[in-house]
Amino acid sequence: MERIRNRVTDPALKGILQKLQDGRRLDFEDGMALFATPDFLGLGAMANDVKEQKTGEDAYFVVNRQINPSNICVLSCKFCEFAAKKGDSKAYEMSLDEILARCGDDVAEVHIVGGLHPDWPFDVYLDIVRTIRKNFPRIQIKAYTAVEVDFFSRIAKLSVEKVLERLREAGMDTMPGGGAEVFSERVKKDLFPQKIGAEPWLRIHRLAHRMGIRSNATLLYGHIETREERVRHMLLLRDLQDETHGFLSFIPLSFQVGTTQIVDRPASAMEDLRTIAVARLLLDNFVHIKAYWVMLGLDVTAMALNFGADDLDGTIGKETIAHMAGADSPAGLTRNFLVGMIREAGRVPVVRDGLYNKLEVIGSVA
Ligand code: SF4
Repeated sequence: MERIRNRVTDPALKGILQKLQDGRRLDFEDGMALFATPDFLGLGAMANDVKEQKTGEDAYFVVNRQINPSNICVLSCKFCEFAAKKGDSKAYEMSLDEILARCGDDVAEVHIVGGLHPDWPFDVYLDIVRTIRKNFPRIQIKAYTAVEVDFFSRIAKLSVEKVLERLREAGMDTMPGGGAEVFSERVKKDLFPQKIGAEPWLRIHRLAHRMGIRSNATLLYGHIETREERVRHMLLLRDLQDETHGFLSFIPLSFQVGTTQIVDRPASAMEDLRTIAVARLLLDNFVHIKAYWVMLGLDVTAMALNFGADDLDGTIGKETIAHMAGADSPAGLTRNFLVGMIREAGRVPVVRDGLYNKLEVIGSVA
């Protein structure tokens, strides 16, 4: 931290820098000051310094596939352009063969998330996991958000614990972090009134962590939420992480405006980078902060590797959810492309698995 002192010009940031140097924890007011600072580069330098203390020069990615088995969903969240009702022209259901065709021996992790289907029993979701596990025993399976787990518990009339047990028996390794959106009753009432809110989301992840299931955490920003709500959201995640140490990564998701008309334009590149930097500084108990290239676009993602992020997600294969909402990034990237992007950002590419074990370190930066 000392080495960046002369790069910080805002007195408010200097105070926060001193706190970090003294090993004191940042609080809500600090989070708000970080968001408000006009010293954008000073903020980035601080976040970058903390990132380097935690993960050095490394920038992680995984050879992965996203699988969204169906977009048919009983809910109609206002911000969602992925979901469809039965009979809609864009509604789809993937067969098990189609799902298996997305996997491969070179794939380290599959990420499975989809709609809350009105007719599928819990067994269909279990079968998806079981079939992948049987055919690809070495793939790590990251499956189903807390929103889906809550839904399974209701349709199968099983406790959340039983649902998680069954999923684990079927082959699920970890949970994704989606469905958290923003922990705000005000936003929930407007954008996703029927979906679970903060308390059930946090309770399900707490339970998963206690059962030894690692998970991830997200924040959907850039719509009607305030910066204050973003800070409170991050602090709630930090509290749970203090308790369980079960989160693998935090992923700020930049809202894709699409045709929702919720806001006129997406968050700016500066707001994206600011949100990543604030997350890195506030979430002192998270090792990994992810710049999700699908939603940020490639240029902002590369910059984010110098603003506190240490992970880009992965090759993905064929992303559906954000692209149905108009994301203009590619639907998938090659491993070589990601390596080049990470090197261009001055970082060392590290191929990881779903638990952040290092599978390969691809040379050092000259
Ligand atoms: S965000 Fe999820 S739960 Fe809400 S409508 Fe879309 S798919 Fe359904």
